[in-house]
Amino acid sequence: MLEPIRHLVLVLGDQLNLDASALTDFDPSQDAIWMAEVMQESAHVPSSKQRTTLFLSAMRHFAQTLKDKQWPVCYIHLDDAGNTGTLAGELEKAIQKLKPQQLVMTAPGEWRVLQSLRAMAKQHGLPLEVRDDLHFFSTVRDFAAHAKGRKQLRQEFFYRELRQKTGILMDGKKPVGGQWNFDEDNRGSFGKQGPGLLPAPVRFEPDEITLNVMALVKDKLNQNPGALNSFGWPVTRDQALQALNSFIQNRLPFFGLYQDAMWEGEVWLYHSHISSSLNLKLLNPREVVDAAEKAYQQGLVPLPAAEGFIRQVLGWREYVRGIYWTQMPEYLARNEMQATAKLPAFYWTGNTDMACMRDAIHQTLEHGYAHHIQRLMVTGLYALLLGVAPKEVHEWYLSVYVDAVEWVELPNTLGMSQFADGGVMASKPYVASGKYIDRMSNHCKACKFNPALATGNTACPFTTLYWDYLNRHVDTLAKNPRMLMQLKNLNRLPDETRTAIASQANALKNSL
Ligand SMILES: Cc1cc2nc3c(=O)[nH]c(=O)nc-3n(C[C@H](O)[C@H](O)[C@H](O)COP(=O)(O)OP(=O)(O)OC[C@H]3O[C@@H](n4cnc5c(N)ncnc54)[C@H](O)[C@@H]3O)c2cc1C
Ligand code: SF4
Repeated sequence: MLEPIRHLVLVLGDQLNLDASALTDFDPSQDAIWMAEVMQESAHVPSSKQRTTLFLSAMRHFAQTLKDKQWPVCYIHLDDAGNTGTLAGELEKAIQKLKPQQLVMTAPGEWRVLQSLRAMAKQHGLPLEVRDDLHFFSTVRDFAAHAKGRKQLRQEFFYRELRQKTGILMDGKKPVGGQWNFDEDNRGSFGKQGPGLLPAPVRFEPDEITLNVMALVKDKLNQNPGALNSFGWPVTRDQALQALNSFIQNRLPFFGLYQDAMWEGEVWLYHSHISSSLNLKLLNPREVVDAAEKAYQQGLVPLPAAEGFIRQVLGWREYVRGIYWTQMPEYLARNEMQATAKLPAFYWTGNTDMACMRDAIHQTLEHGYAHHIQRLMVTGLYALLLGVAPKEVHEWYLSVYVDAVEWVELPNTLGMSQFADGGVMASKPYVASGKYIDRMSNHCKACKFNPALATGNTACPFTTLYWDYLNRHVDTLAKNPRMLMQLKNLNRLPDETRTAIASQANALKNSL
């Protein structure tokens, strides 16, 4: 590398796109790229083996792409001698060695990382230029402008605004099909007959780079959660595009209908499994949304499927990012429902008699994946009803999923699933009894508990804890008009039933 270096461009593990804003004016004759694998990023929460392998393998593949272009790359491996273990520590070493005139980066996906890199740049008196992440439809400023003056933020309104701005699924000024949202059509279950033959997802055999990373992870991070046997995530842009194409062709037509459905032992169903590729920037959300819209326009998928999917990427994904960056850092500490219980140990093993939880946790540990309803209405719901401290729940979700990056994980966990932000993210707590899981899956059929029972030996823990949750928080929840129906049902329970539920819930909590 030639000195002095004009720009040292910092590329983080979730910024693996050649069209990143930090690289737009990259000049290999006077600039260099810095990438670092550090222990802190796998240890500040115990990042699962699947997640760490995906990040490190994708980083190494991206570094190879950069080197193939003859671009100078300063790459630090996790097991390099003298690796300080932190991004700031490694950056300091690079600054001292390469003496760049300026640091440049695309806005990172985590507030903590931005602070630590800014502090390091400041310590060395170096300018750090943080550029907008153009890998989104909206900027954080767009979201802040949307939020300004609103009493309540709702995904639906930001989504509509983005539909209008981008023209996606629009017919002039009106939404295609005459309605903005086909959510009503997105709640099917598989019924008694089950899902039948499901299209196999595209999975990728680990290549030499991935195999080396897997060996490294087993050597250095064997105590971290999960297993690696089934690793098959896209680690390059080419693979991510194959995964996207396979989804559009084979699963998108049924995505809308079965978006919320679950089935014992079926991990992949009709979901896209592209969140990790989107979050690592192997895929651009624009090409993802374009592909879904085109499939609809060509008559290959029904409108509710295309709209349902596009809403996730254009609506939810952009919305949660806006929430994160406009609410941090206070957001991390929010605990509106004053939940203080510990996360049960079985979240790290799946050893529980609850069939739905066992299935969701086992597949999470095995593949680093569970679909949205498993995260929201099984593992998330149980923690919410039990009253687990939101920070503990957040750290579990950030640890175990291959797509976990704090900007998207935190609002989903703390806001949507735990209602710990008091309604910034969602208009009401997502609470339900075991009957919801029974309706959306076949888990209860093989479970030793009965979703209809709140008390007794075979009472479903979800059902017990659901009534207990409403009972414990009745005063707070009564202020929310969207909770009135559920509270009305609570009021119908005779006093002795309520007392029995409270004592069963206490016994359950004490047994954990
Ligand atoms: C408690 C909890 C934690 C979550 N943590 C994460 C996380 O760390 N990373 C993450 O990417 N998603 C997270 N989600 C959102 C969602 O569950 C995942 O994006 C989705 O399950 C990924 O699987 P998929 O790619 O098959 O998605 P699909 O069901 O096929 O959906 C398509 C895409 O839409 C986007 N999307 C869907 N729902 C959301 C959402 N609520 N917020 C943001 N984007 C969304 C994703 O990019 C996803 O790939 C979380 C949800 C909950 C309830
Ligand atoms: S009975 Fe309750 S614990 Fe068992 S699978 Fe159904 S919802 Fe889950």
